[in-house]
Amino acid sequence: MNKTVLLVEDEPGLVASLKKELQFENYQVLTATDGLAALTAFNKNRHLIDLIILDWMLPKLDGLGVLRRIRRDYDVPIIMLTARDYTGDKVAGLTGGADDYVTKPFDIEELLARITAVLRRPRQTLASYQIYQLDDLTLDTQKRRISRGKHNIQLTQREYNLLTEMFKVPGKVFTRNELLDLVWGSEFEGDPNIVDVYIRYLRNKIDKFPECKKLIHTIRGVGYSLTDD
Ligand code: CA
Repeated sequence: MNKTVLLVEDEPGLVASLKKELQFENYQVLTATDGLAALTAFNKNRHLIDLIILDWMLPKLDGLGVLRRIRRDYDVPIIMLTARDYTGDKVAGLTGGADDYVTKPFDIEELLARITAVLRRPRQTLASYQIYQLDDLTLDTQKRRISRGKHNIQLTQREYNLLTEMFKVPGKVFTRNELLDLVWGSEFEGDPNIVDVYIRYLRNKIDKFPECKKLIHTIRGVGYSLTDD
């Protein structure tokens, strides 16, 4: 079966050339030229769509807004296109839960390689539903619900993936590179410090309650561990 890509881009020239290249690589291509149209197209065809290529700067609703709305409920792979080459924006894009991003202007071969890589990454399937528990921290992968005692916790997709990986082996000390591979994929070429940034985000959500024990531990010079010891 051919994979279907939703291409969200407002520059007509780029839409035409990307569409042609993607079709040449045997992808089915759906297009949307603004943020609201992207949400409509996604909602109408979400059972079909295997991957979204999402421009950042879009009319009506920008790419980050689209990303956040889709990510609230769906784990569909998303690659962002951005003309901005600032670290802050890159981090914000990742926070919103994009799987990868490509900075404009880009080489079509590079985008195609990223698409292949992202589509190859394993995603969570129905068969892998689980409830993880450590002290009073609970993660229910079916309901995608995280709680700490009586507090419900909202995580972004990336924070969720990071916590899930650590939850699979409580007490294990993960090196930064291990977490990078597990959560960002071995093709990730950005700054590995992104792991520290996300550990900090997770701590601020999970270990912030004064009545609760700290569960995310830094093992100096080695990495991080999720443990109640
Ligand atoms: Ca644009």
